Amino acid sequence: MAHDHHDHDHDHGQEPPSDMALRVKALESLLVEKGLVDPAALDAIIDTYEHKVGPRNGARVVARAWSDPAYLDRLRADATAAIAELGYGGRQGEHMVAVENTPEVHNLVVCTLCSCYPWSVLGLPPVWYKSSPYRSRAVIDPRGVMAEFGLTVPDEAEVRVWDSTAEIRYLVIPERPAGTEGWSEEALTELVSRDSMIGVSLARAPETGA
Ligand code: FE
Repeated sequence: MAHDHHDHDHDHGQEPPSDMALRVKALESLLVEKGLVDPAALDAIIDTYEHKVGPRNGARVVARAWSDPAYLDRLRADATAAIAELGYGGRQGEHMVAVENTPEVHNLVVCTLCSCYPWSVLGLPPVWYKSSPYRSRAVIDPRGVMAEFGLTVPDEAEVRVWDSTAEIRYLVIPERPAGTEGWSEEALTELVSRDSMIGVSLARAPETGA
């Protein structure tokens, strides 16, 4: 349930469409009217990122990094190239940086300016990621924001907040849960949630006794 209650804090459903949304709509209408873009092509792009590309891509990257130290090294050196090895790339994923969680450091990703997000590995961003409360508070009170998602980072750990831009998109590599020694990459993938790759959550713990 910790994943559900936060929507009330972040999602201002009562607000009229944002200025940005209206501008986007106006621009789209104009481009279609002038015959510069095909609305069906736009719909196809959105459909692809909504339904075909999703956090599972990112989960496979994380599971590979947990399983293969050589891959982790390549991910550290050039995340864009390492992610492309698994076949993921393209829009909003051109310049990727992987940031690793450790017992000493917890990473959290935001885009304070708008909603830059690594589509190629996480699909389209959740509504709360685009909301102004998340965008502003993630920087000034990251621990408070994470607490709303049910995540308490130990006081002794450093919290690093990464502000995405048009040039750089971040992927959090969560810590590998204890008790997963010897697990297959496929099984590990199931433990990696979207939220854990944004940094508002940890990877799922394996169900004990299962
Ligand atoms: Fe942005």
